[in-house]
Amino acid sequence: MYYFIYRSTGSSVYSAVTEILEKSGYWQCKNPDSSKFHLVFGERNRLSFARLGHEPGFTQAVNYFNGNDSICKKSSLVCTLKDYAKKCERNFDWILPAYVVNPEKIRKEIKFHSKRLKENLKSPWMEFYLEKPVRDFREDLRRASATLASGNQRIWIAKPNTGCKGEGIMISDDIDQLIQFVDNSNQSHVIQKYVENPMLLTGERKFDIRCWVLLDHKYDIYLYREGVVRTASDAYDPSNLDKVTSHLTNHCLQQQLADKFGEYEEGNEMFYEEFNRFLEAKYNLSLESDILPQIRRIIKDCFAAGKEKMDASGLSYKSFQLFGFDFIIDDKGHVYLLEINGAPACAECARQLPSFGCGVEYV
Ligand code: ADP
Ligand code: MG
Ligand code: MG
Ligand code: MG
Repeated sequence: MYYFIYRSTGSSVYSAVTEILEKSGYWQCKNPDSSKFHLVFGERNRLSFARLGHEPGFTQAVNYFNGNDSICKKSSLVCTLKDYAKKCERNFDWILPAYVVNPEKIRKEIKFHSKRLKENLKSPWMEFYLEKPVRDFREDLRRASATLASGNQRIWIAKPNTGCKGEGIMISDDIDQLIQFVDNSNQSHVIQKYVENPMLLTGERKFDIRCWVLLDHKYDIYLYREGVVRTASDAYDPSNLDKVTSHLTNHCLQQQLADKFGEYEEGNEMFYEEFNRFLEAKYNLSLESDILPQIRRIIKDCFAAGKEKMDASGLSYKSFQLFGFDFIIDDKGHVYLLEINGAPACAECARQLPSFGCGVEYV
């Protein structure tokens, strides 16, 4: 018998997985305070990795990689991908131009505190640490936006670093307005090039694709065979950037805000078979031969980029993690990465999984 524990009782994913594990007859759910477990489902951002892997007789596994922030936090992803591209001297055509911008007041505060700290703490390493400027790339952003504007590419999107579900986002063709928006906020943001010519569904509607990806304890990658196309309820209109329901395809936003929610697709969700029929009919493209190869390549490159910070081989415990990759496709069938989520919703997909090892493909 194997033992597992978890704390987040509100998680629909954990209860779905518990059901599957217990049904198998090999697994038993233990009191969360027990240290005798083979598997712990962790609480995001509250896991103490250092305490894992020290129970005699137990090989312990956890469903997070320490260091997954390096690709799951929006600003870290920008840096991780840029550093990787530089290191291997490659130009990834699926990375959208993106820049980390920090609110002016936070940068001033850090400078102020670091000065005071330096006066009080005379430790030389502290001085070195505090002098490292807070990363901010607004000047690079201004230059990039001027260059792209000359080619009539003017729209950018500001997203809060740790935001999710489309919250706190601003889209604009005025770069100063976006920077001002960040300066008035309390956290760092990524300002990313907006895809101005997205592929559009019936009704001229935008969509993004969510793919579920498992990274296992050997750092092997598995892509779930089914992904979900999440659709907008209203027609795409680049001359009206304020209309959330035509620009942001997050399920919860569409559900909350769109009068036409569910009018085209049930729950504004389309699955691969139907999406492939649309691709063939309208764009003469196939999901299997035109879109998925791009998606697989992007996923592989992202984990290669994050490997230095995430790799858990050689540690006293095993990590694995499920990720949610968000992609957008332009009107030429070119796939871009939007973001990577470290704790994607997926209860239904877990329930539908026939058994372990099925329903996924090795990438
Ligand atoms: P969140 O964590 O809030 O889901 P995303 O990066 O996935 O952040 O952005 C939310 C939504 O905004 C996406 O699902 C997509 O519809 C839209 N979006 C985000 N970035 C872009 C972009 N660069 N170009 C076009 N649309 C975008
Ligand atoms: Mg997200
Ligand atoms: Mg998203
Ligand atoms: Mg390409």
